[in-house]
Amino acid sequence: MSPEEFKRLGYALIDFIAEYRERVETLPVMAQVEPGTVRALFPPTPPQQGGGLLGVVKELERLLLGLTHWQSPRFFAWFPSNAPFSSVLADLVATGLGQTGITWLASPALTELEEVTTDWLRQMFGLPEVFQGVIQDTASTGTLVALLAAREWATNFSQEREGLQAEEQPLTVYASDQAHSSVPKAALLAGFGRGNLRLIETDDRHALRPEALEAAIAQDLAQGKKPCAVVAAAGTTTTLAFDPLAEVAEVCRRYGLWLHVDAAMAGSALILPECRPLFAGIEEAHSIAINPHKWLGVAFDCSLLYVREPEILVRAMSTQPSYLRSAVDGQVRQYKDWGIPLGRRFRALKVWFALLDEGVEGLQARLRRDIANARWLAEQVERTPGWELLAPPTLQTLALRYDPGGLSPEGLDRHTQDWVQRVNRTGQAFLTPALLKGRWMVRVSIGAERTERVHVEALWALMQQEARRVEIEA
Ligand code: PLP
Repeated sequence: MSPEEFKRLGYALIDFIAEYRERVETLPVMAQVEPGTVRALFPPTPPQQGGGLLGVVKELERLLLGLTHWQSPRFFAWFPSNAPFSSVLADLVATGLGQTGITWLASPALTELEEVTTDWLRQMFGLPEVFQGVIQDTASTGTLVALLAAREWATNFSQEREGLQAEEQPLTVYASDQAHSSVPKAALLAGFGRGNLRLIETDDRHALRPEALEAAIAQDLAQGKKPCAVVAAAGTTTTLAFDPLAEVAEVCRRYGLWLHVDAAMAGSALILPECRPLFAGIEEAHSIAINPHKWLGVAFDCSLLYVREPEILVRAMSTQPSYLRSAVDGQVRQYKDWGIPLGRRFRALKVWFALLDEGVEGLQARLRRDIANARWLAEQVERTPGWELLAPPTLQTLALRYDPGGLSPEGLDRHTQDWVQRVNRTGQAFLTPALLKGRWMVRVSIGAERTERVHVEALWALMQQEARRVEIEA
């Protein structure tokens, strides 16, 4: 493709994206396709000749039907995954500049803009200066990296000797029974073993009980195990519950454990000073994962890992082959040693563009709008007979249920799943049902970039209509 053709196609694709965003609200939010529908749109064999890209805009139109529209203002499922125009442009520039940050020398700008933007975000989050940040692809990776670091730290860097096999005492890791699935996954991948991963019971607000944590640690010590790390949640996935970080940190301090805080979803709220009390104690953590690619408004993927002692990551993860060495080694940050991949995308551009476009105040205003919308919906739920909140609303996620009365627990589970599927099939909104301590309920996650009060009001009307319809038909 010539630069002239690139410009023509590029302008057409920008038009396509802008028009898509203008009409996304009118499209059914949940993809209305059966498995295989999208596959059937494509020929079974690859194009032999080139030249087809110039006609791709028309082809993309057909692909739309296979999309679930995360950028719709009527998207209330899993979590907001905002991809504002600033990120669209930043990703275009990132690929346009074609940088691959394998070392500082491979792209000094990529490395140093990441240093700058992760520190800007640290300031916005009100985290102490001691924390240094790196952008990972996801919080799943951030948590895995944190647990690998914790493992090495707790074993005086066993990998430099015979590795974990030589450890006489099995290492244990702790999280709450509400921890995101990425936490047990990271623990298992980091070699902890299922029997040495303890999921601690939670209280009626779905937050980890520190006394239960301490009891589990004491029990493991008595059995000759070596407690290593706690992963505390600042905003669980199901209900956005906050583990009591200060108390958990105190337990970690007393027993010498690494504290990793999973603030993947809720961490964005740290930019609001009025929300920081929810996170009290986070400053005691050894590592923290926060996803700007969820609510904050930096498009996927952009996940922050803050660490107090990057030297531990570097000792556990650095590689020094001759072809990666340079004259500035020792003077510069080498992000390849702060995680798993060698190659690094220019993700910091998206953070920079987002801040240039919206500023701290713009981001704060949007998050405050979402919290106010969630509070409004919570009030409607609380004052309407049959409806209930299953967890105190902390930020922008509500856990709710409608009980028409007279149903067995299993009947109520079926009723809940039925009405939420009906809502999703209308195409007017998209919600996620989830199990909370063994019973089905519905999560409403408010925070898509374009979601205003009017969309939340429409959702509330739709939920009531569909929940009652199931009741009438039953
Ligand atoms: N932790 C929590 C609390 C989450 O809510 C999520 C995502 O939903 C994750 C971790 C995983 O995030 P990622 O997709 O960045 O790995």
